[in-house]
Amino acid sequence: QSMQPGDAKAAEIKAISIGKTFGAFHALKDLSLDIKRGEFLTLLGPSGSGKTTFLMILAGFLAPTSGKLVMDGKDITNIPAEDRSYGMVFQGYALFPHLTVEQNIAFPLKVRRQSAADIKRRVGEMVERVGLVGHEKKLPAKLSGGQQQRVALARALAFEPSVLLLDEPFSALDKNLREMMQEEAKRLHQETGTTFVFVTHDQSEALALSSRVAIFNHGELLQAGKPQEVYERPANRFVAEFLGEINLLPLDTVQLDGERAAGRFEDQTITVNKSSALAGRAALAAIRPEHMVISVEHRKDNCNAITCRVEGATYFGASTKYHLRTRTGTSLAVSMPTATTSPIEPNTNVWVSWPEHQGFLLPNGS
Ligand code: ATP
Repeated sequence: QSMQPGDAKAAEIKAISIGKTFGAFHALKDLSLDIKRGEFLTLLGPSGSGKTTFLMILAGFLAPTSGKLVMDGKDITNIPAEDRSYGMVFQGYALFPHLTVEQNIAFPLKVRRQSAADIKRRVGEMVERVGLVGHEKKLPAKLSGGQQQRVALARALAFEPSVLLLDEPFSALDKNLREMMQEEAKRLHQETGTTFVFVTHDQSEALALSSRVAIFNHGELLQAGKPQEVYERPANRFVAEFLGEINLLPLDTVQLDGERAAGRFEDQTITVNKSSALAGRAALAAIRPEHMVISVEHRKDNCNAITCRVEGATYFGASTKYHLRTRTGTSLAVSMPTATTSPIEPNTNVWVSWPEHQGFLLPNGS
């Protein structure tokens, strides 16, 4: 009965109009979200946006003030945490310090009264799966931070939960270890097929790990979608800016022209992807720094070509980011691969362009 890819036990959860108040404070406002069977869903948002509150409600540690939770068609809103039987890896949900690695991993199996033989086999499997063979008899204090996180993951997955909840599990680790543990979590998700719900405030972690990202702000769900969708087609300015740097060019009036949208910026017409909702209105043309290119000479085939002056550059190794200013003072950032571009000196006048399909419209003022 070991876990197989696409384990049929993975659950789906529908959160329907969840509200949560603490006194007069609305921590969650009418939040609806479908968590799909077997997906790796990341809840992303700034500090205080309600991610942990939502996870605690999913876990059953907090009761929502309004709304309901439905798991696999069954209303679980009033079912206590211990009967939901989810796996959990929380920051403050530490390993038992007086138990060895194998005793920690065995703990949830003992609680579930599995036979000694089953527990032994299962603990052996999990120790191997998280790469801790040889460390079975050690106490947590004798392990590195990354090893402790591996034990926590193994303990949480040992009883084959239908849902694994993770709250910023790697935020205390240094960058390299953190990236290793992210790969580990991704692999465990693929191997087990369990539904993962992961909380983070780190956008690159969210994009790298998830099958879908749900972006929270002020207790509201702003958008949920695949990493590429939310990054390349954010629903609003907050989502666009939270997921990474973005250039915003204000347009007075948007006109639709076939599959594209066009508008005036300074003394030129620029084009981006079509958005019917913003036709005839003022809007922002939005383009990510890595989707723009700088040319020192004007190329006629570039429909989008804005004249700018280079103000400076920041070298990142693989890429170099140029800081530029348009004729009327809008600042732009353009990120270019270092290997294929020759450095451009400050005060050079250049053209910044982008393929129209890489640009999109955002409502102005949101
Ligand atoms: P972080 O990344 O900092 O953990 P978060 O997005 O997880 O942030 P929550 O912990 O869900 O945010 O908190 C959302 C808001 O609800 C915060 O403003 C917090 O102060 C408030 N809050 C959370 N729990 C309580 C509580 N028990 N009593 C009062 N207010 C609370």
